[in-house]
Amino acid sequence: MSIPFNRPYLVGRELDNIAQAHTNGQLSGDGVFTRHCHTWLEQRIGTRKALLTHSCTAALEMAAILLDLQPGDEVIMPSFTFVSTANAFVLRGAVPVFVDIRPDTLNIDETLIESAITAHTRAICVVHYAGVACEMDTIMAIAARHGLKVVEDAAQAIFSSYKGRALGSIGDLAALSFHETKNVIAGEGGALLVNDPAMTERAEVIREKGTNRSKFFRGHVDKYTWVDIGSSYLPSELIAAFLAAQLEDADTITARRLAIWDHYHAWAAPLEARGLLRRPIIPPDCRHNAHMYHLLLNDLSTRTRFIESMKAEGIGVVFHYIPLHSSPAGRRYARTHGALQHTDAVSDRLVRLPMWVGLEPHQDHVMRIASDFLSGL
Ligand SMILES: *Cc1c(COP(=O)(O)O)cnc(C)c1O
Repeated sequence: MSIPFNRPYLVGRELDNIAQAHTNGQLSGDGVFTRHCHTWLEQRIGTRKALLTHSCTAALEMAAILLDLQPGDEVIMPSFTFVSTANAFVLRGAVPVFVDIRPDTLNIDETLIESAITAHTRAICVVHYAGVACEMDTIMAIAARHGLKVVEDAAQAIFSSYKGRALGSIGDLAALSFHETKNVIAGEGGALLVNDPAMTERAEVIREKGTNRSKFFRGHVDKYTWVDIGSSYLPSELIAAFLAAQLEDADTITARRLAIWDHYHAWAAPLEARGLLRRPIIPPDCRHNAHMYHLLLNDLSTRTRFIESMKAEGIGVVFHYIPLHSSPAGRRYARTHGALQHTDAVSDRLVRLPMWVGLEPHQDHVMRIASDFLSGL
């Protein structure tokens, strides 16, 4: 039996919605389904403005434009993240400054941020790894003290919360992903969440190729013209139609993922007690969304053998990330602040187990095969 690492889940109404978009007579962006998704996200997450984009990468690029970053400006962020977190800012000529992660949540270590601030620092970009919140109270206080903006890379964090507040609603800007490997999907897709009211209007302009098209359609201006820099960041109505179906069933998706996560967590407890691995750690202030279940094995060679032995049984388990500070582009465009010892260590030891809605009947098999390997260590 072959069990993939990820399998995109359909709630069932996606294709009907796509047909409906065609019936509605608009396939380009910002139609009925797009507006529905915007309102849904605004109400659910408690953000001032939600704007669908064609990816989380695009939303991060919009954030970098909105922050008016100039060449040489610095953005503090973790190195243990997906490339887009850094690349979006590098496209503006800004310099990512990497600080280490906390060994428990694998999120940016908030105690290291302040010493990384220089005269060039403009923003902090946090990543809520595995949908577990960064220490946002501390981070927002540092930003306020130093006049910095905060961007939440909430690609993995839809419907997670920190002290009762939805992730994506705390920073000045946030980015969600609806890539097929995330919890709620549209194939490729994302959203920019704008919490700072001073940036909402410009966000619409940047997303619409630098034009005031949105204002024109609301009847606020009588000419539609080029007013600022921008690009085409909006997705087609087909994507929004697909996503609208997913959002309707979002709570079921989260609940089913959480049940799978809890099942893994209970299974891994005795293995952790035997010193064979470390389980994910969720701080008491954080409610997570079961985006992923990862294990920290004891060293790189154990992880390599684990992945091979699972693969031999047809089970997809994967690792990430190659730390950005040791990647070719990271070396060229970014710099580090201090030693990144936890980033390096975790990158060698972390492995992700299959996690998708529909895995339930196969999960015991995955755990049995994993136990066979781990018990032999
Ligand atoms: C998936 C992911 C992204 C990129 O999302 P896309 O929608 O594929 O552009 C960015 N940052 C993090 C942390 C991610 O996990």
